Amino acid sequence: MNKLKNCPECGKLYLEVGQGMCPACYDIELEQEQVVHTYIRDHDKCSIKQIVEDTGVKEKVVLRMIKSGRVVSDNVAYPCENCGADIYLGRLCDKCNQELAKQVEKLAAEKKKIQNVDRSHTMYNAGREF
Ligand SMILES: [Zn+2]
Ligand SMILES: [Zn+2]
Repeated sequence: MNKLKNCPECGKLYLEVGQGMCPACYDIELEQEQVVHTYIRDHDKCSIKQIVEDTGVKEKVVLRMIKSGRVVSDNVAYPCENCGADIYLGRLCDKCNQELAKQVEKLAAEKKKIQNVDRSHTMYNAGREF
């Protein structure tokens, strides 16, 4: 269903047809995407910061392109969701991935410890009954 909305970019009232912004801003964004595409094609590895600085396209536009899959992100570094470090794959950098793995391991170890305590407790009770 189409409805009137305020454009998040320029604030003007427009008819929402699934673009998330008014036609004028959408046109601008399409042009900017073209610029970003060309930039990425010409640069093997680049970060979002570099793209923003060199093309003048807003960071949120570049991020939106990457997140929506309109940019092949293999060559473009984007921030780790946890610490903001440059990454090329997944959602977290190596450091945060390792940190996460460690935490999972710790949780698993703690769970095991609790189970062990449970078992010794049961054995103690059982021993008392005899
Ligand atoms: Zn607009
Ligand atoms: Zn990180």
